Amino acid sequence: MRVTVLGYQSPYPGPAGATPGYLVETDQIRLLLDCGSGVLAQLGKHYPIYELDALILSHYHHDHVADIGVLQYGLMVHQLFGERDPHKPLPIYGPEAPNVNTQSLPYRNATAFYPVQENTDLTLADVHVRFLRTDHGDGDPCYAMRLEAGRKVLLYGADSGPGTNWGSFIREADLFICEGTYLDHNLPKTPNGHLSVRQAAELAEQHACRSLLITHLYHAYDSDEVLRQAVAYTVGNCHVAQIGLQIAL
Ligand SMILES: [Zn+2]
Ligand SMILES: [Zn+2]
Repeated sequence: MRVTVLGYQSPYPGPAGATPGYLVETDQIRLLLDCGSGVLAQLGKHYPIYELDALILSHYHHDHVADIGVLQYGLMVHQLFGERDPHKPLPIYGPEAPNVNTQSLPYRNATAFYPVQENTDLTLADVHVRFLRTDHGDGDPCYAMRLEAGRKVLLYGADSGPGTNWGSFIREADLFICEGTYLDHNLPKTPNGHLSVRQAAELAEQHACRSLLITHLYHAYDSDEVLRQAVAYTVGNCHVAQIGLQIAL
């Protein structure tokens, strides 16, 4: 598996930036995890959008789905121009609710929607995907994802506060993509469905993740400072997300 960071910023993209989107490639498939603002422009640096095989969404907050409308337009046009099979919509997998978001996911022949729940087991070519509901948001589901392929485990934590019950879901992760929304100086006193960089590092250390990618960062954070606050993680490599960063598992 190979992971490419297409976007990692939140709540909005900085100059030439992008909010969350991660490209996952194996020998058999090209998957996009989340589709934030600016992600499509970054995806185009790697290959044309019509070569995408599937999109998996963690939840429907704007920073994770902002580019879906233009992705649908793009795919529709490529179908019209004959670069993509007009009878093969891009499958979008995402939480079953809320309706107001899911109803816009099927679009002509460009995209089709397949709802997932916490107990959904998904096999996409050589990738096996499972889901875990996180502590996030206002009552609507947000799912972390565990992707397994070729004996490697990629864990995408999505947006997840300290109340997430991880259980054995992170077990043996070769890479944990974990949000670190806050630094020490702006961490709210009451948890609000997000982690700080320090908490992300502690979580990855506690579960002995083999490497860590800290993400969901405000665009103006200093990456050296992020790394300093991730001091609790000692097991393996600690990456701070940046656009274009590639990690091979
Ligand atoms: Zn969110
Ligand atoms: Zn978010």
